[in-house]
Amino acid sequence: MNNGKLVVFSAPSGSGKTTIVKHLLKQEELNLEFSISATSRVKRGEEIEGQDYYFLDIEEFKDKIRTDAFLEWEEVYRDNFYGTLKSEVERIWANGKHVIFDIDVSGGLRIKRKFPDKTLAVFVRPPSIDELKIRLKKRKTEDEHKINMRIAKASAELATAPLFDVVIENDELEKALEESYLTVSNFLNSNGEAGER
Ligand code: 5GP
Repeated sequence: MNNGKLVVFSAPSGSGKTTIVKHLLKQEELNLEFSISATSRVKRGEEIEGQDYYFLDIEEFKDKIRTDAFLEWEEVYRDNFYGTLKSEVERIWANGKHVIFDIDVSGGLRIKRKFPDKTLAVFVRPPSIDELKIRLKKRKTEDEHKINMRIAKASAELATAPLFDVVIENDELEKALEESYLTVSNFLNSNGEAGER
């Protein structure tokens, strides 16, 4: 569709943005489809190729950087590359849907800069760094070293919150889900530069 919009959710790892994005995807009337990122990190237990991510090895990933296949890409953690393929956004728009992203803070801001009028950039703020650490430990998807890497990055990421269109506090999940729904729904139904759906 010509008037497809972009909804970006960015936040430090463990803030709950993935839960929020999954909730929004279930609301059919929003007409959203998830932007599947490419990554060079190893697949976690439950993840599915082509559903959670397109898993590439580092060489494949770098090839795609060279051929300018990415809308944005980032070495989010050392040797762990993540990026949004241009073909992914085109695929979703061709499907007649709006695109929703679950990406890191720099990637989110880059998309906002590329499509300022079509993009709603949302920052999800966790209650505190201590709480973030507790959540990451509970999740048990990363070892202690990786958790510490993520925490160190989180402090810098929190400082970027004012650059986003909206900041949603996630201290109480139900409230954060409702606020996210209302914010996204208003944006998608507004007559901004991108025009009416
Ligand atoms: P995880 O390894 O937990 O799946 O993701 C690590 C971080 O990379 C998260 O903050 C996630 O949002 C971010 N990320 C996932 N996909 C992309 C992408 O396409 N671009 C960028 N810049 N970050 C991404």
